[in-house]
Amino acid sequence: VIWQDSITGGASLFATEQDGEQPSAAAAAIGLRLRRTLGCTGEFAAQHSSEDRWSLLYSIAYRAVVKKKPLIAALDGDARAAELLAKAVKRDVHKMKAFVRFRRIEGAVPERFVAWHRPEHRIVRLIASFFARRFSTLRWTIFTPWESADWDGETICFGAGVPSAHVKEHDALEHLWKTYYSSIFNPARIKLKAMTKEMPKRHWSTLPETTVLNDLVRSAPDRVRQMIAMTVKDSGAEEFVPRGPVSLPVLAAATRGCSGCGLSELATQTVTGEGPTDAEIMLLGEQPGDEEDRVGRPFVGPAGTVLDEALLRAGLNRRGMYVTNSVKHFKFEWRGQRRIHRRPSVAEIRACGPWLEREIAIIKPKAIIMLGATAGQALLGPGFRVHQSRGRWIDDPIRKIRLFSTVHPSMILRTPEGERERAFSDFVSDLVRFADDFSVLDERAGSHRSEAA
Ligand code: SF4
Repeated sequence: VIWQDSITGGASLFATEQDGEQPSAAAAAIGLRLRRTLGCTGEFAAQHSSEDRWSLLYSIAYRAVVKKKPLIAALDGDARAAELLAKAVKRDVHKMKAFVRFRRIEGAVPERFVAWHRPEHRIVRLIASFFARRFSTLRWTIFTPWESADWDGETICFGAGVPSAHVKEHDALEHLWKTYYSSIFNPARIKLKAMTKEMPKRHWSTLPETTVLNDLVRSAPDRVRQMIAMTVKDSGAEEFVPRGPVSLPVLAAATRGCSGCGLSELATQTVTGEGPTDAEIMLLGEQPGDEEDRVGRPFVGPAGTVLDEALLRAGLNRRGMYVTNSVKHFKFEWRGQRRIHRRPSVAEIRACGPWLEREIAIIKPKAIIMLGATAGQALLGPGFRVHQSRGRWIDDPIRKIRLFSTVHPSMILRTPEGERERAFSDFVSDLVRFADDFSVLDERAGSHRSEAA
């Protein structure tokens, strides 16, 4: 059998009513059974540019539908080949969502926008409804070599493809794209290989921002040096901290606008503390880790899991505590694809101090558990050493709070595997001692014991 199709016809075993032409009852039944067998793989694979796709899908259809042989997709060579085609098409759909750039047609009334894009596969019909939803109020046309889609505000029409970009090359939107891209470009995160992989060269001609990319890449080392210089510069958070009494949410919102040291330039977001305003115990860590930086909450990464487990074993209830970090932005360096934690400097700890002091002033905790050296240095100065005070109470006569010192849970993760269990049980012992002493110190401390205890 020699299979052929018409790009604009689009009717196939997988055609639906929305495609215009009604499939025959038999074809619809086959389509339904194939969907049951392959899920949406068949629909995506059918849009692949490979000439073999119909014979491949027919082979699957013949065995699954006509021969009624059960098809185990994971073990079947044809099904796996179809899966690969579908994956390539899905990738192409993803790229088209990211790389279509509309340009305004000058003088068109009503206003009209056009874009030219060169996908590898015949994906216009798969994706047209996405653009109709996203730009529902605009009138636009997307041209591709395979097919074109036109949205008039109500319906999508499909027409012939155009072989190359006939859309105007410069317009006001181009300047907007360049400005936007330059402002979001982060020289500290530049990875040329990944960029070229994610933004294939064949799309560059239709992306206005690629014209500024060379300059941005060239100036990246200088900009990174400036950022590092800013990191070292100890301007401090003081000027960003609101004056007068404020609530925790207001304080958290103000922290997000802080650029008191260079760390805000590198990190994804500010990670503020969380927990009840009337918490009697504060847990103070060092700085957000990689996962906290992405999620925006303290102690939700691997170190947070260790902390949760240790608190549980010690009979302490994290939900009743206020959990925060000494430094509110993630400090790291790139190693290959990974962001590796770097310890905040004394200057950065000092710079971030005003936020911590305001959190303490609002919460008024009776005790603070200092997790690691940075937490101790944030409260007691750069001379603090965790190994000299671990498992001990320290009076803070200025803040009138009792401080308890132990290690940071990430230390347990860094401990060699054979000694990790011991390190963890020592950490739990510290927390048990804290809980016991705190119970004696505070009659109400029973409320900090978790039900699990
Ligand atoms: S680390 Fe602290 S002082 Fe530095 S920018 Fe972030 S919030 Fe501001």
